[in-house]
Amino acid sequence: MKEIVAKKLGAGLSSCLDRIIEIADRKKYPIFLVGGFVRDILLERDNLDIDIVVEGDGISLAKETANILGGKLTIHERFGTAALALPNHKIDITSARSETYEHSGALPKVELSSIKEDLKRRDFTINSMAVRLNGENPYTLLDPFNGEKDLKEKRLEVLHNNSFIDDPTRMLRGIRFEQRFKFNFSENTTKLFGEAIGEDRLNNISPIRFYNEFNLICQEKDPYSPIGRMGEIGFFRYIDKTITYGEETQTIFNQIKWTMPLLENKEEIDMPLLFLTALIAPLPEETILEICQKFSIPENSRTNIIQGKRNEAATIAILSQNDDMESSAIYRLLSPLAKEYLIYITSKVIDERVEENIVLYLSELSEVKIELSGDDLIALGIKEGKAVGDILSLLKDERLNGRIDSREGELAFVKNKLLKIK
Ligand code: ATP
Repeated sequence: MKEIVAKKLGAGLSSCLDRIIEIADRKKYPIFLVGGFVRDILLERDNLDIDIVVEGDGISLAKETANILGGKLTIHERFGTAALALPNHKIDITSARSETYEHSGALPKVELSSIKEDLKRRDFTINSMAVRLNGENPYTLLDPFNGEKDLKEKRLEVLHNNSFIDDPTRMLRGIRFEQRFKFNFSENTTKLFGEAIGEDRLNNISPIRFYNEFNLICQEKDPYSPIGRMGEIGFFRYIDKTITYGEETQTIFNQIKWTMPLLENKEEIDMPLLFLTALIAPLPEETILEICQKFSIPENSRTNIIQGKRNEAATIAILSQNDDMESSAIYRLLSPLAKEYLIYITSKVIDERVEENIVLYLSELSEVKIELSGDDLIALGIKEGKAVGDILSLLKDERLNGRIDSREGELAFVKNKLLKIK
């Protein structure tokens, strides 16, 4: 196991882990790798987040670790948790704890405990394994719920019959893992899941916790299958009771899936905002604002949806009525709208010209930049003020329409303009 962990971590992180083990040894704290990181070691999948549980004071261990390794440390005293952000990785360091729930969906009451108790509070057997890092028999697997067997047999199994009642977010986590790993819920877990749906358990969690899970689903490498599952099961009603998952929404999601690979800078797209837009943009403005309020959607995302909705019909009309629009005109028309909203429009329009022009904008035109700056223009003798802005805008149009493609071209264009003014 030691070799597997070291290989998984790579040389740099492996030596980080050695430092943490040294500190824990000095403090006489048993420490363990846990959760998704252990699961992904056994699945041979990449995972950049390392989860460590300490039988002892996790926060003091995290502070000493940060002193030695650097990075940005965030501490939650109340939960005994700390997160250390290193350049490409996150290390979560947590005191072993047990949790009790006062009522369904409540935040748990937390008490310090042992690794055994800590593993009992987890969601699925595959996430309830640990690797001991120090003490006697280091690098052995602790697997009290037979998670390794479930991993091999591609099964999702909760740890006890109250799991979804205690914490209904586990239903959404379950869908995410089911679709990510192509696993199946066990017979008993399927039954419990069905009962929790029947009892409307997701209603017991706060909107923020629901939206947090929705976000995670949307950020999956392949978000389309878990989002589709959410729809099939009827979970969109927790966004708004009027949202259903019919053929129309399925077609929109399929089209989004088709459009995304055509875009150059996919990483720029805010996937949760895109899916949220696709689900709520058809609703009345008032309802959209209520939903945004309920889920504390950031102000700029709200504005993106509302502004998109207000401009949607006119934008589609202009694009479909004008053949051979110049690229600069397409740019001016579409750049005020959020990219997420534009992708949503492509997913619902039938007119190919509209779709093609939006894809052209998203994949090429939106990336067009000019090389000269305002200062360059002033250095060339253009008077500070409106003239500078006007020329920059003209330069951008020339670039967009493909008439200029270099800094030299831009310079020649500006000099020519100056000659004409003189
Ligand atoms: P991912 O690969 O999506 O990051 P993960 O399993 O690492 O999945 P985290 O949200 O980082 O997920 O959680 C780390 C671990 O904490 C999980 O593996 C699981 O053991 C435990 N955990 C997280 N959320 C819950 C929950 N709602 N109920 C019980 N245990 C949970």
